[in-house]
Amino acid sequence: MSASPCCGGTAATVASYRCRVAEHYWVNQRYKYIRLEADAPIAPITKAGQFYQLKCPTALGHEPFLLRPMSVYGAGPEENRIEFLYNVTGVGTKAMATLPEGGYMDIVGPLGNTFTFNARYRRILVVARGVGLATMAPLIKEASRAGVEITAVMSARSPADLMEKEFLRGATADVRSVFDADGSSSVEAVDGLIRKLIEEQRPNAVYTCGSQRLLMLLQRVLSDYPHITAEVAMEQHMACGMGVCLSCVRMFDSDGDRRFLRVCREGPVFPIREVVGEVEFG
Ligand SMILES: Cc1cc2nc3c(=O)[nH]c(=O)nc-3n(C[C@H](O)[C@H](O)[C@H](O)COP(=O)(O)OP(=O)(O)OC[C@H]3O[C@@H](n4cnc5c(N)ncnc54)[C@H](O)[C@@H]3O)c2cc1C
Repeated sequence: MSASPCCGGTAATVASYRCRVAEHYWVNQRYKYIRLEADAPIAPITKAGQFYQLKCPTALGHEPFLLRPMSVYGAGPEENRIEFLYNVTGVGTKAMATLPEGGYMDIVGPLGNTFTFNARYRRILVVARGVGLATMAPLIKEASRAGVEITAVMSARSPADLMEKEFLRGATADVRSVFDADGSSSVEAVDGLIRKLIEEQRPNAVYTCGSQRLLMLLQRVLSDYPHITAEVAMEQHMACGMGVCLSCVRMFDSDGDRRFLRVCREGPVFPIREVVGEVEFG
């Protein structure tokens, strides 16, 4: 089955958009949702897996210098609508969390590539942890629209952190939740669960994002299932987000051909089987 980039469309020009904050609220204790209205059509050129560089405001004494990368959580139906779901962690996101509805923020994008997805797939398996769910929400929507069945393994510290409703956004899925709190998210338990799901449900493709531990686990499991398409949307610390500064390079191995690639430019979506674990220097 030949696969094509998710959501179609041609390569879009990267541009800077001035956006009005239309909606901004806490989803739980750590995550905020923001809906922006851009000053130009943005949704039609934005694909699942892509990200924008956000210019966080100066607030609370925080002066974030670099733009912050955020995956697209949603785009459309209005042409100028774009959404992000973000973890309030450091200088930039804490300042961003203070943005009032009616305020303004500049964003640059769309950046990066997209997932490989085929509307003729029968089922996909999505394995998500933490804010990785924001990255995969548009893929879930795409699959749901195409009538592709979805299984979602959702991993979180506790049920309060799960955000199942925010992940599915109305799509129907066979959801298997695992938690740190009761040990069900341990490597052994998730390894067993994923092997069982693959054997029983035979997904055409597996996708993940947001956890190095899940990535390595999937790489090991999927080596036993070479026919399954397998992709990860990687989160790597980055500065420019446009391929110039080279701060986000990671090593990849394609059939023994080892090379450094820029997560922002050649990614952030890569074949799971090609990711090489963090390299130790020195
Ligand atoms: C392609 C991509 C998509 C992302 N999508 C999301 C998303 O949808 N929602 C979300 O909550 N977070 C996402 N992140 C992580 C997000 O960029 C960081 O949490 C954010 O930059 C932290 O900024 P801060 O100033 O609050 O934290 P600080 O720790 O103060 O950040 C300092 C610097 O470190 C970098 N940094 C810190 N943590 C990360 C990280 N995990 N990944 C990359 N750079 C980091 C920032 O760019 C910043 O320049 C994504 C990261 C990447 C690379």
